[in-house]
Parts: sequence; structure tokens; C-alpha cells
Amino acid sequence: MSDQTERFADNNPGKYYIIKTCIGCTLCSVIAPANFIENTDEELAVGHSYVYKQPETEAEELLCEEAMDVCPADAIRNNGSSN
Ligand code: SF4
Repeated sequence: MSDQTERFADNNPGKYYIIKTCIGCTLCSVIAPANFIENTDEELAVGHSYVYKQPETEAEELLCEEAMDVCPADAIRNNGSSN
């Protein structure tokens, strides 16, 4: 099974996405608040974050990469594609 099939459906389409190993620590949304956000759906037993906007500037891209590097669950991925 590839990482593609493990991504959350609420990710904005694009090269960055979050997969289901996310533990909802919210670190990514602190580091890159323009791109990551926590899903606060109360029906979820464990919250998770997702990509709500793909990076549009070099600064946003760098913060997304930083978030990917520090994610404790290795849940942020970049497949390099445009969709
Ligand atoms: S940093 Fe990783 S584990 Fe934490 S909320 Fe973001 S994707 Fe999930």
C-alpha cells in the first residue's frame, strides 16, 4: 500500500499531504499556520492535522519543509506532484 492511499481526505490537493499516522500534536500548524490546520471535528476520537492550502511562496515552502522535518509521526509527505 502506498502513502497516497493513507492520506486524509481533507488535505488540499497538491504535493504536500498528511497521512493517517498523524497523532494530532498540532506542531505543524504552529510552524506553518498558513498551510496546516487541525481538524477539530468533535466526532473524531483523535484529532489530526491536514493541509488546507498548498505553499504559494518560498517562505511557505520552507516552513512546510521544516514542519515535515520535525513531525514526530513522519506524517507529512511531499510527493513533488502538482495535484
Ligand atoms: S506535526 Fe505531524 S503528528 Fe503533529 S499534527 Fe502535524 S502531521 Fe500530525
